[in-house]
Amino acid sequence: MPGEQVSEAGRRSGAGALALAVLVFLPSSAAGEFRGDKKVVVSPELQVSIGEGDEITLSARPLPGEGLDAFVKRFTEDPRTKSEILSRNEGVKLLRNDVFVRVPYRLLSENYRRIAIESLFPRDTADAQGWVHRVAALTGKPESLWRIAEWFTGDGVNYRDVRAANGLESLATERGQIVRIPLKLLTATFRDEAGAAAAATLPLEFGRDEKGRFALYRLQRGEALYTAVVVRLTGRLHAEDVNAKAAEIAERSGISDVRSIPVGYAVKIPVTDLSPEFRPPDDPARIEEEKGRLEATQFVNRVRAVNLAGVTFVLDAGHGGRDTGARVEGVEEARHVYDLACRVERLLRAHTRAAVVPTVRRLTGCSDGRSDVVSDSRSARVMTNPPYDLDDPVAGVNFRWYLANSVLRRAEERGGSEDRTVFVSLHADSLHPAVRGLMVYIPGEKYLKSSFGKSGELYSARREVREEPRVSFSRRDRIKAEGVSRHLAEKIVGAFRALGLPLHAFQPIRRNVIRGGREWVPAILRYNRIPARVLIEVCNLNNPDDRKLLISRSYREKVAQAIVSALVEFYGGPGGQTVTARKASAPPADASSQPDTEAEN
Ligand SMILES: [Zn+2]
Repeated sequence: MPGEQVSEAGRRSGAGALALAVLVFLPSSAAGEFRGDKKVVVSPELQVSIGEGDEITLSARPLPGEGLDAFVKRFTEDPRTKSEILSRNEGVKLLRNDVFVRVPYRLLSENYRRIAIESLFPRDTADAQGWVHRVAALTGKPESLWRIAEWFTGDGVNYRDVRAANGLESLATERGQIVRIPLKLLTATFRDEAGAAAAATLPLEFGRDEKGRFALYRLQRGEALYTAVVVRLTGRLHAEDVNAKAAEIAERSGISDVRSIPVGYAVKIPVTDLSPEFRPPDDPARIEEEKGRLEATQFVNRVRAVNLAGVTFVLDAGHGGRDTGARVEGVEEARHVYDLACRVERLLRAHTRAAVVPTVRRLTGCSDGRSDVVSDSRSARVMTNPPYDLDDPVAGVNFRWYLANSVLRRAEERGGSEDRTVFVSLHADSLHPAVRGLMVYIPGEKYLKSSFGKSGELYSARREVREEPRVSFSRRDRIKAEGVSRHLAEKIVGAFRALGLPLHAFQPIRRNVIRGGREWVPAILRYNRIPARVLIEVCNLNNPDDRKLLISRSYREKVAQAIVSALVEFYGGPGGQTVTARKASAPPADASSQPDTEAEN
């Protein structure tokens, strides 16, 4: 779309001339667009363009619900950058929601550089050796090695190393040429992205038969249909879903016995069953998924809090009262996650200055943590005013998020900020027995509602509900929640990995639950106003190894350490004190499993 004006999306969405705040920027029509510009619309509020000399420019307008300070803070980490952005959009008096502000690539934070590159060059890939850039010649002329080095390594001078790594003679490139940028040259963001992409890359071929479009995956040695295909490629996790989908795929692929599939056998998976990230690049669901992810990437936590000073941590032990949660072979979810919550609270109080607010309390307090044995949590109540006895688990979940929202409101009234408040809900899953390890759920933007509330006597009897019976979320709130929650989830996954604790093998961070043909975000996250909010499934109770781990106090103590160190990392790393990990004890021997189910409403 050469030569289009970047303000078009603003007109299309019917945004009026509502002035959000005084300051800033002219409509960018005068700001140097010319024929030959290539523009990609990332979202209604965000566009990336590349123009003459391969200058990349990001153009943005405020998200619905976003003020000036929040808007500028999204792009800048350094106040000098802020003033340069302002001066580059000279002459403008108002920040308006129909006017795009232009920011050159050089001034963008690492997050936005990644957004710009991924939207302009969707055919770029990555592997364990580094980034693989495919020369796209978006402006009509192929991009130079200098520019490529500048984009991915932060400095054009690195073109020499890029040239050497590719064995090239010339600085010029050709359309379609592959240029590798070695891992060690990449800036941190692209290096991380390369690592993640390398782990997710799979050799899939696509085809079509009379039943529709399918992907072909050839089973490797030691791989099983249930895990390597169904769990990994379709995102199903619960035993009944995994088994049903495995049977369907086996039939479609002409497999009669799923237990003896030859190595290299080509398994056919309908494209509509694949998770979006495994679909072909032109698939609408994949495009939507990638856009959503890029939008959320705009938001990470930038607040630094030494020793978590000023941070409020809302800690939710799942289930309790009459609701035991999952129960497998006598191992009960509720009492074990309550013990975990006690350990997290103890570590936070001993090592940090965070304020800890548990959502539930038992009548008996936490034990000293020196025993493997955990007490039952039948007496657990949600700590609303007055407390709720957890007669009904669904009402219990609602009171937990009402309470979390009330804690946030009070923190803000005391001068705190939503960016210094975190919510973590602790659970243990009951999935297909072949699945194991940590999984972290974050609030996927597309599954969140704009407004929600409960009514009735049970609810209005409690102060937290009366304070704010309905919650509402702007689009900015929802996008920000997904972004900062993913950031927190990445810290949690990193901390588990560092301590050698089991992780889900394929996709430990998920934006939604998939079950029984439906997709949703758990209610505890859906209606919660704390932006950084996650639900942690520490392990899978249906997996015998995971179950053995959960009943050992050394594992629970390490999980608590991982959560605390993730929180410290989320707020900029340890400021003098660190939470140290002890060496893991080996998981005990196998045991048989008794599948159970759990509704996470
Ligand atoms: Zn649970």
